[in-house]
Amino acid sequence: MSTIGHFVDGKRISGDSDRRGDVFDPATGRRTGQVALASAADVAGAVEAAERAARSWRDASLAKRTAVMFAFRELVNARRDRLAEVITAEHGKVLADAAGEVQRGLEVIEYACGIPSALRGGFSENVSTEVDSYSLRQPLGVVAVISPFNFPVMVPLWFVPVAIACGNAVVLKPSEKDPSAALLLAEWFTEAGLPDGVLNVVNGDKEAVDALLDHPGVKAVSFVGSTPVARYVHQRGSLAGKRVQALGGAKNHMVVLPDADLDLAADAAVNAGFGSAGERCMAISALVAVEPVADALVARIAERMGRLRTGDGRRGCDMGPLVTAAHAERVRSYVESGIAAGAVPVVDGREVTPDGDADGFWLGPTLFDHVTPEMSIYTDEIFGPVLSVVRVGSYDEAVELVNANPYGNGTAIFTNDGGAARRYQHEVEVGMIGVNVPIPVPMAYYSFGGWKASLFGDLHAHGADGVAFFTRGKVVTSRWLDPRHGGVNLGFPTQT
Ligand code: NAD
Repeated sequence: MSTIGHFVDGKRISGDSDRRGDVFDPATGRRTGQVALASAADVAGAVEAAERAARSWRDASLAKRTAVMFAFRELVNARRDRLAEVITAEHGKVLADAAGEVQRGLEVIEYACGIPSALRGGFSENVSTEVDSYSLRQPLGVVAVISPFNFPVMVPLWFVPVAIACGNAVVLKPSEKDPSAALLLAEWFTEAGLPDGVLNVVNGDKEAVDALLDHPGVKAVSFVGSTPVARYVHQRGSLAGKRVQALGGAKNHMVVLPDADLDLAADAAVNAGFGSAGERCMAISALVAVEPVADALVARIAERMGRLRTGDGRRGCDMGPLVTAAHAERVRSYVESGIAAGAVPVVDGREVTPDGDADGFWLGPTLFDHVTPEMSIYTDEIFGPVLSVVRVGSYDEAVELVNANPYGNGTAIFTNDGGAARRYQHEVEVGMIGVNVPIPVPMAYYSFGGWKASLFGDLHAHGADGVAFFTRGKVVTSRWLDPRHGGVNLGFPTQT
């Protein structure tokens, strides 16, 4: 049984802690390895390596930083299939989906290749006579990135390339459920020429997270995960004086207006509801059907669901297993509570016959109709392949429902009415909006982030917000003499 350790100061190490977590292949249910769960001392060792590396990396030229980033981009691009295989083996998502995740991560690396443009400051000549002013942005030092299980490559890559390109050193703490991909990324960064210690990976659980939040050497924390943990990380990290961005959970609504193209909407609902077995923070879990479209829409979705193949992600199936046995059980219990509460199970995923090992963590795509807002399948983030149809009578009722929800990550509206779509994007209290696009994940050069209980902190991930998060601003006011001067003057400096 292999033990998955850490990556510190340019090499793999096993660490001091003897605590271990189990890692499974979700499609077979078999334990494939164990992951070392770092102690506070292990974390301190990684932070110290990062502090040493940060001292010189902050002075690496932009040319040197981008050379590393371009080389890393080439390595990830050439090895994208290998990375996808590692994702599928520990997460369970189908290979094509895993390849898509790698692609989205690559786009952030490519954004980081252009960091010289993003880091450009401003310059004003003669703000006062013969006085110039300019702004610049400098790295923070050591930053921590803490990521969830559902995107073991993409989420670390939302932050790590931008943080490094901005001149920081990083300690990455991946999810203990699928820890292997992060170690590969760190090794490939080293191969691309990144100096030892600039990127370290510490595997672990709450103990490692707490150690990062408390360590005075860590200046900023980028976290992605569930809302309760995001709130906790934001509070504890902020109390320790760190800059924190903590992206949380979601309950994403897709509103379908009566004039929508129903075939397009049905395709989108199936793709966004069941892709990655619903284990996406941008998955659609609530479909808000504005009457009279519900009957026609539900029929179209059910028909498409009948053609989906659930099974081992390496066998060309559409949807893979859930990440762990415990999570599959939890999602299954939501299906039971939906039925008990009176929702109508149009398709019941518990009856699926998977194309995979009998011991895999299976649950097929599930569609509920006549879901009402007080049911737990509506109120809770299920994070599984369960799509709930809520029927409403009007556009206004739909917006009211979406805005009453505590989450505000993503949403979509399906309509052929440009005016209605424009009104929706203006009125809805959600950070990322799709118009006839079900999973509106912004490109790397925009920023990713939700509102309300889906994000704690101010700045979103990657794009301009990412650069702002990983840097501090300075403004310099300078005068080069011309030996004339005005003599002593205790008045407040003013423009002359
Ligand atoms: P999680 O909150 O259980 O874990 C996230 C990270 O926090 C992991 O690294 C984990 O080791 C650590 N952690 C877990 N419990 C902790 C605790 N009590 N104290 C300190 N650290 C702890 O989330 P998950 O199950 O890995 O991921 C799924 C969740 O992430 C979903 O809620 C999903 O919506 C969310 N997510 C959000 C986004 C976004 O952009 N908003 C993106 C992806 C996933």
